[in-house]
Amino acid sequence: AKSQGRNTYQFYTEALTRSANLRLSMEARLRRAIERDELLLHYQPQVELATGTPVGVEALVRWRSAEGRIVPPGEFIPIAEDSGLIIPLGYWVLREACSQGRSWLDAGGAAMRLAVNLSAVQWGHKGLFGRIREILDETRFPPEQLEFEITETTLMEGGGPETGVLVALRDLGVRVAIDDFGTGYSSLAALKRFPVDVVKIDRAFVDGLPDDPDDQEITSAIIAMARNLHLELVAEGVETRAQRDFLLQRGCRTGQGFLFARPLPVAECMQWLARALR
Ligand code: C2E
Ligand code: CA
Ligand code: CA
Ligand code: CA
Repeated sequence: AKSQGRNTYQFYTEALTRSANLRLSMEARLRRAIERDELLLHYQPQVELATGTPVGVEALVRWRSAEGRIVPPGEFIPIAEDSGLIIPLGYWVLREACSQGRSWLDAGGAAMRLAVNLSAVQWGHKGLFGRIREILDETRFPPEQLEFEITETTLMEGGGPETGVLVALRDLGVRVAIDDFGTGYSSLAALKRFPVDVVKIDRAFVDGLPDDPDDQEITSAIIAMARNLHLELVAEGVETRAQRDFLLQRGCRTGQGFLFARPLPVAECMQWLARALR
């Protein structure tokens, strides 16, 4: 039994070393990816549910690995967060999104909102507000068209200073959306405590529409509450007409999802927008 215990121990040690190495190499590769410009943004249109008219886009980061595979953010954002790489990565995303947004405007594209995700680690970063302002200045992207998506968990777990950042951002004209609304433990408290502009209904609730009674109740309650608080609403993950119709009927006017468009490379997204706006 004793030797078996040692074997088990050895087994775990090896497995741990292996996974630590894997992680380390992933981290090293990601660090290199940021330096070598292997990251890119896809954009998913946000539309008026009733007409399909675009009102904005959400920037979603991708990694084109050396082997040419497009790696989805779920595979590297957590590693970027644990290692702190999310800080340079996040500023890269913001600068790239603002500069591509500026190109769209310079080419005569209509003003619309550009939503960028902010992770908890970025939200806690000291220089955040200053860097945001610098990037807006450098890219000449209009602050009123920029929107940050921040999860309620991030907002609630932050300390005091972040609230100041929120106020300062809104003074600049930047808008703030609560992402994945309803999935944390403190959705209502977050709404009461933070001055936000938009509530994003999480895909998890939209998924079950129009048939699941719980999802019906939850989305209806979120919509009614946001409307009473004069907040804008965006539903995530709208995949079917039936989902769209349910949301519209309950008073949610804006959404994004595969029914309208998948996240698209920048050139394709600009084409999609130009066509949809014609
Ligand atoms: P999220 O912010 O909740 O983004 C929405 C995710 O839902 C995206 O996945 C999008 O492709 C996907 N999606 C959109 N419409 C539909 C639909 O109709 N059906 C289904 N099944 N999925 C849909 P993606 O691009 O893989 O991003 C996953 C997550 O990674 C994001 O979730 C966000 O939390 C994170 N992320 C992405 N880009 C960034 C970034 O630049 N910075 C940070 N901090 N996080 C990011
Ligand atoms: Ca988001
Ligand atoms: Ca979500
Ligand atoms: Ca999310």
